[in-house]
Amino acid sequence: RCGTVAIVGRPNVGKSTLLNHILGMKLAITSRKAQTTRYRLLGIHTTEDTQFLFVDTPGFQQKHINALNKTLNRTVTQVLSEVDVVLFVIEPMKLGEADELVLKMLPKNKPVLLVVNKADLMGDKGNLLPLIQDFDLLFDFAGIIPVSAKKNLNLEELLQATREHL
Ligand code: GDP
Ligand code: MG
Repeated sequence: RCGTVAIVGRPNVGKSTLLNHILGMKLAITSRKAQTTRYRLLGIHTTEDTQFLFVDTPGFQQKHINALNKTLNRTVTQVLSEVDVVLFVIEPMKLGEADELVLKMLPKNKPVLLVVNKADLMGDKGNLLPLIQDFDLLFDFAGIIPVSAKKNLNLEELLQATREHL
């Protein structure tokens, strides 16, 4: 199996850390240069039976709507419509407006997994559930997966869940 996976989320939720840890230093094939006009190919993770192509999207701009940003926003929408799966990364203790802006642009016609990162920081997990459930009401996620990118917790499960939608 082979498919494309977009990783989206506001700055600082841990997208880069997640990617780096999924790819592993040795397997990483990263590029700073645009592979196409639409998206940057960030890396390929190959397992026995699956190849995951991770792609980046340009930032989504809502505050300053000028011609360039309009084009960029269209590009984001386009990329999200072309990938097979979207991983929407959040940091549960710090949900806010910036996350909601990303949430609003998620495609409604394809699998979006809610990746709840920084699970290692959650002291009392009971406090967290209502927060995530509130967020879950706003969108029909294909699944919700808690992970810690930094501590490599539950990343295999995340890949398994992603694989199911390729
Ligand atoms: P990005 O802007 O979404 O790409 O976020 P980064 O990957 O640059 O991470 C932002 C900050 O969050 C960095 O200081 C990371 O070390 C930290 N971080 C990322 N993942 C985790 C995690 O699972 N647990 C904790 N405690 N910190 C994390
Ligand atoms: Mg980053």
